[in-house]
Amino acid sequence: MTPDHGELLYEGKAKRIYASAMADRVLVEFKDDATAFNARKRARMEHKGRLNCQISARLFELLEEEGVPTHYLGLAADEETWMMVKRVEIIPLEVVLRNIAAGSLCRETPIRAGTAIEPALLDLYYKDDALGDPLLTQARLRLLGVADDARLSAIEKLARKVNAVLVPFLAGIDLQLVDFKLELGISKNGDLLLADEISPDTCRLWDSRIEDSNDRILDKDRFRKDLGGVMDAYGEVFKRVQGACPNPRNYL
Ligand code: 5GP
Repeated sequence: MTPDHGELLYEGKAKRIYASAMADRVLVEFKDDATAFNARKRARMEHKGRLNCQISARLFELLEEEGVPTHYLGLAADEETWMMVKRVEIIPLEVVLRNIAAGSLCRETPIRAGTAIEPALLDLYYKDDALGDPLLTQARLRLLGVADDARLSAIEKLARKVNAVLVPFLAGIDLQLVDFKLELGISKNGDLLLADEISPDTCRLWDSRIEDSNDRILDKDRFRKDLGGVMDAYGEVFKRVQGACPNPRNYL
């Protein structure tokens, strides 16, 4: 059953955001749409919304327990693709942390795929589809005025804390956290909160039980690279996360 919701506030590539009965809370619906390469590649993938919602809910809860402030309030009633979150103003940055070289880092530099990066590399991108989410330099960040130095250092600290929590948790279920993208927001009270989602759409996850460099991929790269088995991979991530975190909370 679809939870009671108000007007559609925003529709992104993978989620819809609706007003709720409370001004400071919004409902997020995870969609089955898959996009890549700035939406130049599109598909519908049955169960993707449910799997990403269920994985994200559990990872947000784990992060909250470890002291990372997030927007997450709980799954919305018995509906498997909806969650209730605190309303935030999204900071227009894509915050990427890389533990192992992959993706754009390897396309844009001579660093070879699979190279361990220690300490993890923080890359900030300007969140703007029309501009293709460009990588920012420190100087461009300052010029844009998206966030002042104090906020940037809080963003970096939060991203590194997320990494410090997720890497060992995922390693415990035989998943290597290669890299991930976070979006952060500011709540009505002015708090910096982790927002958006944390799922195989936004993280690169490699199965540490598998050697083969394609077979081990359990994330959106299966869709980007036409490797097939996309939902089986997401389902495998869900199964392992659920095994470690069986009962996410419901929003009451
Ligand atoms: P890369 O810069 O290598 O393309 O991406 C680094 C990490 O951030 C990957 O885990 C990738 O999935 C994630 N990422 C970067 N940009 C986006 C984006 O616009 N949407 C999504 N869902 N993930 C992104």
